[in-house]
Amino acid sequence: MPIAIKNLSYVYNEGTPFAVRALDGITLSINAGEFVGIIGQTGSGKSTLIQHMNGLIRPALGQVFVAGQDLADPKTNLKAVRQRVGLVFQYPEHQLFEETVFKDVAFGPTNQKLSPEEIEQRVVEALTWVGLDPDEFKDRSPFELSGGQMRRVAIAGVLAMRPQVLILDEPTAGLDPRGRDELLDQLSTLHAKSGMTIILVSHSMDEIARVATRLVVLEQGQIVADGPPRQVFSNAKKLAEIGLGVPQVTELMIALRQRGLAVPPVALTVEEAKQAILALLDGGQER
Ligand code: ADP
Ligand code: MG
Repeated sequence: MPIAIKNLSYVYNEGTPFAVRALDGITLSINAGEFVGIIGQTGSGKSTLIQHMNGLIRPALGQVFVAGQDLADPKTNLKAVRQRVGLVFQYPEHQLFEETVFKDVAFGPTNQKLSPEEIEQRVVEALTWVGLDPDEFKDRSPFELSGGQMRRVAIAGVLAMRPQVLILDEPTAGLDPRGRDELLDQLSTLHAKSGMTIILVSHSMDEIARVATRLVVLEQGQIVADGPPRQVFSNAKKLAEIGLGVPQVTELMIALRQRGLAVPPVALTVEEAKQAILALLDGGQER
């Protein structure tokens, strides 16, 4: 299993009046090939948790294993871990700095001292994954692109390292609906075709419902739900208690049931809701 976290806690500014307990006894195993959505209110510990997954924060209390390696062990090579576990920060486009898209995406592979042919291949592959035509974009300045394109260039820079695990911290924040949908589709395709493990931090249930096969809900540094999205959404009341909703289509199902219609309690996509409602209408006609 690529990532195993055992009883992990983390306090910022430990021992000062500004101490904040960000993680509180997290135990979580993520298997190769999963597409995990992590959701929770602002301040629930999402960013702190994922920064533990690639050694950006060394575990202080509890354990984090990546591919069996203990990240608290001083002998563990964290640089190698970071190549395996690629982390895309919030607003990653703020970290673009090269004069061409090619150079920006090539930055990691270049540092790894790969051959020019290998670097070129990695850049073309990574740009293709994020839906940017390499020939069209590689010589352009990242700073003349749209916000969504810049973000995709930044994500390509992480993909160019060919990580086994890709973690993205709120990658759709600030994108327009079309940019958001495109990015989610690209991540789905990447997951399906490459078998990469993907961990997506989001504050949108609609988003997670579309792409993730597993949903982890954080509240005040603790995991309060963990399972297939359908199962987690079936407990809409508990999610509401911690200030999180369910996807809009699931809300629709709940509202229909409250009016006495025998639709399933959860729908993950508009298409699924449509089919459920049509099935009910068909059933009605037969009677
Ligand atoms: P999320 O990503 O879910 O919004 P974070 O992991 O950023 O949550 O934050 C969890 C808690 O830790 C919050 O109370 C936040 O204020 C606090 N925190 C996050 N980063 C720092 C930091 N660098 N210094 C002090 N406190 C922090
Ligand atoms: Mg965060």
